[in-house]
Amino acid sequence: MNLGMVVYDHFRTFATSISYDLSLKLIRKFLSIKISLFVMSSSKKVTKIGVLTSGGDAPGMNAAIRAIVRTGIYYGMEMYGVMRGYSGMVENDIIKMDSRSVSNIIQRGGTILKTARCLEFLEPEGRKIAYDNLVKKGINGLVVIGGDGSFNGAQKFSNEFDIPCIGLPGTIDKDIAGTDFTIGFDTAVNTAVQAIDKIRDTMDAHDRLFIVEVMGRDAGYIALHSGIATGAENILIPERKTTLDQLISNLLEKEKRKKLVNLIVVTEGDEYGGANGVSKIIQDNLPNADIRICILGHIQRGGAPTCIDRYIASRMGYHAIECLMNGTHNVMVGIVNNKMQYTPLDSAVKAKQQISDEWMKIIKVLST
Ligand code: ADP
Repeated sequence: MNLGMVVYDHFRTFATSISYDLSLKLIRKFLSIKISLFVMSSSKKVTKIGVLTSGGDAPGMNAAIRAIVRTGIYYGMEMYGVMRGYSGMVENDIIKMDSRSVSNIIQRGGTILKTARCLEFLEPEGRKIAYDNLVKKGINGLVVIGGDGSFNGAQKFSNEFDIPCIGLPGTIDKDIAGTDFTIGFDTAVNTAVQAIDKIRDTMDAHDRLFIVEVMGRDAGYIALHSGIATGAENILIPERKTTLDQLISNLLEKEKRKKLVNLIVVTEGDEYGGANGVSKIIQDNLPNADIRICILGHIQRGGAPTCIDRYIASRMGYHAIECLMNGTHNVMVGIVNNKMQYTPLDSAVKAKQQISDEWMKIIKVLST
């Protein structure tokens, strides 16, 4: 073997070993990517889902629970109901659910899982206990039906722990961005309309000024929608400041025109202190007015959900499971312009829906 051949032979052995090493490395790398991908997708793959209702109850929550449980089971997942909102997570009150456990609830108000406000969940220690309880059951996905407070909790929880959360807007107040309607709003507003219609009959018979207080801590949507639907002369909502001068001069002007029947719909969270506060101010300024108050209160939370609430709850519930399956995590499922819309939980909480000038103009024009 001459020198040239020896060099060539060494080179070939070297090259072969390099390419062998290289290919081995490449294969290893490829396998490790595949493995990590597999691990990633399997660790993220949601197989056991917990569902809970949290914060204020709203008609239609049961329809949402039913849709979530049945869709999950349809796709081969194990479904769990967490009792009393985040309290059930902290106290390990979590029950297995099957298709039959959600039979005959679509038409019922309230929530079969019950709801609560949970102070422990506000603290990191409480959320850690909740997480450990989910891990014990192997629950690796969560659907939270509630309002903005509940989404705040879900957002924090999903940031701290590797459990994806999906939010469903369940609140009669409709004070959440990223959806045209929230579960429970339509029922609450229709309950308010039915009650105000009845009040109008008696109010009309006696030429009275009636102040009806409807629910809404920080949001005036129930007042706005029910007020427009019942022909209210004035609607007081937290989003729009009505000066007392405006209100009084409006009533004085109507008094002059002998328009004595006046309906004022006010939100409980109004700056003047709801119906009682507004009544006192009006009576001081219009001593002759025959004023009556009606606070509708909790009847707005109860009752069979309307068709719209059952429909949106079913649709949103179905899509909540789809989100958990396809990796669209930590979002709120909403419906905008009749299309599904997914809003990151923190954005759904921060941005509020706006009440446009157009609505205020409509109220003014139609009440003349
Ligand atoms: P809603 O969801 O109807 O707005 P709440 O504001 O009472 O009702 O919130 C429901 C629950 O969500 C609270 O009792 C608490 O357990 C949890 N929660 C609310 N805000 C937070 C927060 N900032 N951090 C952690 N958990 C929260």
